[in-house]
Amino acid sequence: MNRPKHLLVANVAWAHETATRNPAFFRDLMRGQNPRILWIGCSDSRVPAETITHCEPGDLFVHRNIANLFDPDDDNVASVLEYAVRVLKVGHVIVCGHYGCGGVRAALLPPDPALPHVNRRIAPLCTLAKTHRSELDGATTESGRVNRLAELNVLEQVRQLRASAIVQKADAPPLVHGWIFALDDGRIKVLTSGYTADDAMTCTTAAHSAA
Ligand SMILES: [Zn+2]
Repeated sequence: MNRPKHLLVANVAWAHETATRNPAFFRDLMRGQNPRILWIGCSDSRVPAETITHCEPGDLFVHRNIANLFDPDDDNVASVLEYAVRVLKVGHVIVCGHYGCGGVRAALLPPDPALPHVNRRIAPLCTLAKTHRSELDGATTESGRVNRLAELNVLEQVRQLRASAIVQKADAPPLVHGWIFALDDGRIKVLTSGYTADDAMTCTTAAHSAA
């Protein structure tokens, strides 16, 4: 069975299992969406937002791109933010990067001439790496440099989101959080939570305090 066919067969099973578990599930979905969270994550296949947070359809409004970048001049991500804030009125925006990010690693390497679109997208990351060169050079391994730049990148995207006109001019500005996912143990680390007192706490602890 080819991969797309496999997905379609799996979909039939999922729809059946979901309806069996909760007969009202699809009726509720049809009524519309009311997600409380906008998730901006990396396109990396290993970091699926709903899976790693045990979320269900309807829980997250999602935008993913290479290296979870926010650029206010990019209509793709800006339109998602605009709709999430002005129409859905989400209370939280979460930027979730991940360690071992290939997009972040590429920003530390010479541009690949075969990937002109990627090169343009990650240009701000290259600039960020130059800004923090002395700190990054202090890392003893390449993965150490990549992982620290991945953290700095999340914080930079959070900074830009908080400074964006869409967030600043919102009637009820959402809290912007910066998270990073570890591939080696599946845990999320909170880099900045939006709740100032919660900064640097673990995801579990922050979730409890936000509940
Ligand atoms: Zn990535």
